Amino acid sequence: MKKHNFSAGPCILPQEVLLKASEAIMDFNGSGLSLIEISHRSKDFVEVMENARSLAIELLGLEGKGYSAIFLQGGASMQFLMTAYNLLEKKAGYLNTGTWSEKAIKEAKMFGEIVEVGSSKDENFNYIPKGYSIPEGLDYLHLTSNNTIFGTQIKKFPNTNVPLVCDMSSDIFSRQLDFSQFDLIYAGAQKNMGPAGATLVVIKDDVLGKVSRQIPSMLNYQVHISKDSMFNTPPVFAVYTSMLTLEWLKNAGGITAIDEINEKKAQLIYSEIDLNPVFKGYANKEDRSNMNATFNLTDDKLKDTFDALCKEAGINGINGHRSVGGYRASMYNALSLESVGVLVDVMSEMERKG
Ligand code: PMP
Repeated sequence: MKKHNFSAGPCILPQEVLLKASEAIMDFNGSGLSLIEISHRSKDFVEVMENARSLAIELLGLEGKGYSAIFLQGGASMQFLMTAYNLLEKKAGYLNTGTWSEKAIKEAKMFGEIVEVGSSKDENFNYIPKGYSIPEGLDYLHLTSNNTIFGTQIKKFPNTNVPLVCDMSSDIFSRQLDFSQFDLIYAGAQKNMGPAGATLVVIKDDVLGKVSRQIPSMLNYQVHISKDSMFNTPPVFAVYTSMLTLEWLKNAGGITAIDEINEKKAQLIYSEIDLNPVFKGYANKEDRSNMNATFNLTDDKLKDTFDALCKEAGINGINGHRSVGGYRASMYNALSLESVGVLVDVMSEMERKG
């Protein structure tokens, strides 16, 4: 039976990417060797890395704008501290929109003064704070564009001269934005890009070199950039598979094309959530994420019936995060509109049964 994979991450990847990646495990580029048993310094792998880096920049529309893309390890969680290590001299601002922002704040506090410019903690992060002011003298402002756990997404980014740092782990490459408004973007690969194990960091070169502290080589963006993202052995399989996904996205028309489909998927599920009395949305309507739709049953007694119907329909991975409960349908780039349709059909069947 076809599975409809709504997992929050690691998550669905395009079938053709999985196929090509599995072929490369057995025989990479017809070499008779596996991708994961050759040198990362070999010509074939260096090409993969260069291709992955330039596709990322191209898809984000940042070509010729002074940005570098590198693939690092340690997950987006490592970026919570690396961003501060490399950019925080005195004071930085953080918008607290959920668990991941809180973790970023915790790490950054070890490097300087942190101003929480806004927070939605009062409502268990079901909205995006707006109308907050940005104090003078910040080294940067840190945002989390999409809150994977709570299902909220920043729709409008602040217009400011302060450098913007953005954790885009769960919505990178999913919607058209002016990416040049950001000075540093980071994202774990395991949502819209590839398997876990690589983290994409896109940095505007001129934000670096401004802090006075010594930075250990492995945590220093300049070191990784100067070594073309090959300072140490990169996670070759994760980078290769990310490259395949970026190629897939480019061939599918890039971010603008996928944005349209993602918008349709989101409209389909949210209109069902709004019209169907069996379900209730979690996030504030205007802040709802196009990637992660969070919702609850209005009557918890219906849980077993709903879960059984989902299982029967091949729906996987819609249990909500433990801090929110309920359900979360993650609709990353590789998830088809048809899969969302299957979930919506099950939801409307619940209403008929109810
Ligand atoms: N930021 C966001 C928005 C996330 O969704 C996640 C993981 N789901 C992280 C950071 C942490 O990523 P990692 O597990 O790769 O460290």
